[in-house]
Amino acid sequence: MNNAAPNRQPPRVVIIGAGMSGLVMGIKLREAGNDNFRIYEKAERVGGTWRENSYPNVACDVPAQSYGYSFDPNPEWNFRFGRGEEIQRYFERCERKYGLTPFIRFNTGIASARWEDGRWQIRTCCGEQDWADVLVSAVGALHEPRYPQIPGVGSFKGPAFHTARWDHTVDIRNQRVGIIGTGSTAAQIVPGIVDRAGEVKLFQRTAQWVLAVPDKKFSRAHKDRHRELQWLARFKHWFGLHLFHALFGSATRGNPLTLWLLNRSVKANLQTIRDPELRRKMTPDYPPACKRLIISEDFYPAIQKDNVEIVTDAIDSIVPEGVKLASGRVVELDVLVYSTGFIPYHTSVEVVGENGLTLAERMQGSPISYRTIGVPGFPNYFSLFGPYSPIGNNSIVQNSEIQVRYIMQCLEMIASGKLKSLNPKLEVALRLKDEIRQGLKGTVWTSGCQSWYLDGNGDPIVYPFGIAHFTRELRRPKLEEFEVG
Ligand code: NAP
Repeated sequence: MNNAAPNRQPPRVVIIGAGMSGLVMGIKLREAGNDNFRIYEKAERVGGTWRENSYPNVACDVPAQSYGYSFDPNPEWNFRFGRGEEIQRYFERCERKYGLTPFIRFNTGIASARWEDGRWQIRTCCGEQDWADVLVSAVGALHEPRYPQIPGVGSFKGPAFHTARWDHTVDIRNQRVGIIGTGSTAAQIVPGIVDRAGEVKLFQRTAQWVLAVPDKKFSRAHKDRHRELQWLARFKHWFGLHLFHALFGSATRGNPLTLWLLNRSVKANLQTIRDPELRRKMTPDYPPACKRLIISEDFYPAIQKDNVEIVTDAIDSIVPEGVKLASGRVVELDVLVYSTGFIPYHTSVEVVGENGLTLAERMQGSPISYRTIGVPGFPNYFSLFGPYSPIGNNSIVQNSEIQVRYIMQCLEMIASGKLKSLNPKLEVALRLKDEIRQGLKGTVWTSGCQSWYLDGNGDPIVYPFGIAHFTRELRRPKLEEFEVG
């Protein structure tokens, strides 16, 4: 911390999770000269979502050149849509490049963190104790697999697993594979397995809109050019994000022109399904982007192959042979995959703030968060991608950089000795939440569908104002919005 008084120890920071956002927090701490931190990572490697999701054909549907950190553009991308393993490699390279490895405690999850006597008392899952002036939760918004509440789950006699726990020991060649769920994950898996599996049965409860954006393999010359010309890689990063906000971001907020373009594109793509009956099954009954839009050029071609069936009859139960439908039909399977998404904003860490208030209590039903990064009643606690973060309409990497920049300024204030703790005021958080609610009117998320963008009361918990607004809001901490200790 540059402003720290001489001999003053910089505030001790504990970060939960060494995924994309935990790493950028560590990088920025090191850059600021604060080595007084530790990252606890429950697994044996960094990478978060890209470590956990290793299902066939896993990729990022945000163009790779805009996906990495803005300060470290990656010239090595092989494809326009980065494959899971190359994204994982990128984050592992960043871990080494920025010297983060000694700061990470691997295979050590945090069990609990309690705010006591003006600091966070931390207990790991292995019973170790630690403490922190500042606690940063970087556990990601979607990491806890959601298993479906279907009678008989567990009774299937073959291998059954969630997409985020893909069992690579199972050979799917010539097998009858059932996939429950039709989100972005399933839309990547189906093209990834269709030519190997014997049959693919995709159990679809709700049809999805699909935008076909062509993928592209980058040549060696392309990579050489981006390695030599760092400015070009940076420019493409910047340009890609601006294009994304101008087109997709504005459409989500109800811009008539971009919304019209989006509608036209997904409807034209739907017409590429030749069989009218299949096209009818795949036609959603809600507006595009209400649920997270699927971006894929190979999903529709894959589901039109002879060995794929889209099963739209309601599921009655899981039985030893496969999936029993409400119609009485039993779809016999060899392998069953749950592509049923995640419990959003879940954390297994018991976080206890002032007066014994738990984070779980604060987040139950309709969550309360302060400017997406703080929580009233939880001093010196920051979360990357808290509820209302712009994750439905923005690059998650860009979000984390904006949020980390804000947290770094809070840390500077603490380091300077001017204050010890920052606790967002409840009335401010409630006022901001109300502004967000007002801002959500007329956006795609309120257009009538079920998705993980909604809270327990069915209200969207996304940021409706766009990235420029978000950047402005988090430019500087507003001290008057905190109870300062
Ligand atoms: P998801 O979008 O939440 O989709 C879950 C699917 O499971 C839905 O089709 C849902 O149906 C279905 N489902 C859930 N419970 C069911 C039940 N009991 N019976 C039948 N169907 C059931 O999950 P996801 O596909 O894993 O994607 C989650 C998020 O991860 C995405 O929204 C995205 O943010 C992220 N992701 C990103 C990428 C990328 O390339 N960047 C790739 C994959 C995932 P309903 O629609 O009817 O609820």
